[in-house]
Amino acid sequence: MDLTAAVPRHPMFTRRLLGVLAALFALTLVGAMVMLVRIADDLNAEQQRKTVVYAQRALDSRQAASASLVSGYGVWNAGFQHLNGAIDRQWVYSQRNLGPALYSQSGYEGVFVVDSHGTKYSLYLGQLSNAEIGDLVTTPLRPLIQAAQAAMAGAQPVSSVVLFNGWPALASASPILPDDDSAQPAPADTSVLVFIDALTPAKLHAMGKAYDLQDLTVQSHATGAPDQSRLALGDTGYDLTWAPSRPGNQLLWRVLPTLVLAFVVLALLMAWFFRFTLRTARQIDDSYQKLHQSNRALEASEERFRAVAEAASDWIWETDAQCRLNYLSGRFAVVTGYTSQDWMHCCIDQLLQCETMPLQAWLQSLSRHASATSLRCAYRDQGGQLRYCRVSARPIIGDDKVVGYRGTASDVTDEVAAHAQIQHLSLHDPLTGLANRNQLIQFFEPLRQQATAPQITVVVLDLDSFKPINDALGYPAGDAVLIKIAERLRASTRGKDLVARLGSDEFALVLCGLNTRQEIDRFCARLVEYLRQPIAFQAQTLHVGASLGIAQSAHQGLDAGELLRCADIALYQAKAAGKNTWRYFSAQMHEQVQQRLQLEQDLRLAIKQQEFVLHYQPRYRVDGMEIVSVEALVRWQHPIHGLLGPDTFIPLAEQTGLIVPLGRWVLREACEAAFQWPAALVVSVNLSPAQFAGSDVVRDVRDVLVQTRLPAQRLELEVTENVMLNDIDNALGTLTALKELGVKLNMDDFGTGYSSLGYLRAYPFDSLKIDKRFIATLNGTDSDRAVVQAIISLGNAMGLTVTAEGVETAEQLRTLSRDHCHEVQGYFMSPPIDRHALTRLLGAPLPAPVLALP
Ligand code: C2E
Ligand code: CA
Ligand code: CA
Repeated sequence: MDLTAAVPRHPMFTRRLLGVLAALFALTLVGAMVMLVRIADDLNAEQQRKTVVYAQRALDSRQAASASLVSGYGVWNAGFQHLNGAIDRQWVYSQRNLGPALYSQSGYEGVFVVDSHGTKYSLYLGQLSNAEIGDLVTTPLRPLIQAAQAAMAGAQPVSSVVLFNGWPALASASPILPDDDSAQPAPADTSVLVFIDALTPAKLHAMGKAYDLQDLTVQSHATGAPDQSRLALGDTGYDLTWAPSRPGNQLLWRVLPTLVLAFVVLALLMAWFFRFTLRTARQIDDSYQKLHQSNRALEASEERFRAVAEAASDWIWETDAQCRLNYLSGRFAVVTGYTSQDWMHCCIDQLLQCETMPLQAWLQSLSRHASATSLRCAYRDQGGQLRYCRVSARPIIGDDKVVGYRGTASDVTDEVAAHAQIQHLSLHDPLTGLANRNQLIQFFEPLRQQATAPQITVVVLDLDSFKPINDALGYPAGDAVLIKIAERLRASTRGKDLVARLGSDEFALVLCGLNTRQEIDRFCARLVEYLRQPIAFQAQTLHVGASLGIAQSAHQGLDAGELLRCADIALYQAKAAGKNTWRYFSAQMHEQVQQRLQLEQDLRLAIKQQEFVLHYQPRYRVDGMEIVSVEALVRWQHPIHGLLGPDTFIPLAEQTGLIVPLGRWVLREACEAAFQWPAALVVSVNLSPAQFAGSDVVRDVRDVLVQTRLPAQRLELEVTENVMLNDIDNALGTLTALKELGVKLNMDDFGTGYSSLGYLRAYPFDSLKIDKRFIATLNGTDSDRAVVQAIISLGNAMGLTVTAEGVETAEQLRTLSRDHCHEVQGYFMSPPIDRHALTRLLGAPLPAPVLALP
């Protein structure tokens, strides 16, 4: 399921919302502006109307004042006497009744007395003048004068706007009448007093100030700015103008900056908010994307997990903290035959039983941070068959607590069976079921630990006349004899004694509690007699005898190897003394010991004089029979005894420590030779356990690789399981260090040591070699073949290349090929050969018998 599908696309939604908000904000801003401008306009218009009224009022009041003054002078008895009719200039001017003060103090630029004949008295700028009123006032005056003459005394004076000296002025006229005669209509030729009040800038300024009209001036119609406020001054062609006061503009100027600032701040805040919101939205978007991606990754990983869980051979399990199963992968049903529902909610302990501790206790003891560990468990599958699995587990941590466990279970039933078989093999002789040499050696270990050393007698026994039976009647007869002898040996000994088969017809008895020679002699006599008893095989009666060699811990100590060696020497003496007898080891038998000492001396010298030579035995890949590697096997060119095989001197070299210089020589010689071979060819060198203990193998190998310039991957080291016997930890360290150099590791003689699966699992081997003993009996019973098959399948399970050594017949090769053994080595393909023969072989085609195989 796409978990992200349900998540709304926040960022897009936010972006859209922010867009709408921004538009709303801009709209509000524009609306507020428009409204403000409207209000300002209204205010301006209102004010404009008011100032016109004020201007009119100013003009009116000036006219009224002027009219009032002129009527004061006109309707006056004294004035009537001196002005009506002939003018009494003395009275008028000289006595300053209508004198210069009218100009200098009252501001009238013109004072005239007129009658129907013309201007009788003329005062211009306070000075007597001869000018006719009509000379100075260019607009028609007659209507004004006639209106004044028609007015009654005490009636309102008349006034109008005129052009005086080409400039607008207020002309006020009053009939000259006696003031007591006010009720009488004025005579037709009544003189009229006219006052001219020019609208000078000074007067206009005073008027403007009084009526709050700024820059009150007079301008002709044609001039002045169109937006100026104006009031027409009659028909003079002039207007009263003043600077329009615009309160709306003031309002705008006062409010606008604050408004704009507020909007800017708001816009900035909004921008910041938008950015913040957008960033948050983007982060949400990113988280969303990441969530989406991680969901996709999660789905992919779940898909992968499912694929792996179904494809793997292991099954996967999960439990809660109480170890109750709550998940089992599909493989569970395939491997166990149960359905996962059969076990759901059951404690894991009910399903799987561990041999060492309850599984639940083990799980609960797991450290939280530990890497997965494993434990082997058993269970019965649905068919009731006992099966084994290796359980690995790890705690599941949730909220810093262990909330459950999970792990895998790999089926190791086949591995366990093979292991048990091999374990048995490593301690038993497959034919007779008796103990083998390994078990015999192990048998001594606890004895050596005991506080009081027990009396142990070792009897080594070799059958007389066995070889002729084998040769004449074949293996089945030989095997029947060996099985019968084993039976008799078992019957002759007690429970705490040990019976072992050491070689083909060589047996050993480890007897406890036989203290005296008499007791031992009696036992041996009885045994020899018993073993001489005829053996029935098919229709025949077979006769064999036995020679015994005896060594005693009382004399030779409790060392198994030493006791066997001494018993062997004694056996040799018994055989030499005729059959069916026994001999005790004695000091006189030291001759052989002497020989050994001599050999040791020779060996020291041989190492100094380099009397060794390497022979090479090729190893073939079964599929295609191509040579993949060549094993170096050392020989000693003894000056007297000729070419000696390693079995005659390697054990001695190991015991004396001479194996260390000898091993170094072999390693160098083999690597030098391999450097000349084709590049794909690997050289195998045997390493003895004594080399591990007595030298720094890792340094030796590194030095030789550096000096011979052989690539590390072309060197293979063959070691036997005995390497691991003495010091497991050290051996693991050394093998790991060797592996890190890049060389290959092969486990030699597999099946003869204490073959423990643990070794194979823990140690870094690349391949294993099935010991030739198993291959030699491959022609025999089916059980032998089953063992080889078990080893091959074990190798396959561990990813190791499996080689069979000692392949001597085409039959063996064919069987191995059928059982899918990977590689083979043996006389059938090629015995060990010298350097020259190897060079020829590498250049030659495949040997004929191999090619002839089906
Ligand atoms: P190994 O490593 O198991 O070597 C295989 C032995 O089996 C060789 O014996 C080889 O000749 C023999 N062999 C090969 N094919 C056949 C076959 O088809 N049938 C039979 N029956 N035997 C076959 P060899 O050369 O006598 O060596 C014996 C042992 O000596 C070796 O056993 C190895 O453990 C030891 N050895 C040889 N060279 C060295 C060496 O350079 N260093 C050490 N440490 N040990 C060596
Ligand atoms: Ca080998
Ligand atoms: Ca071997």
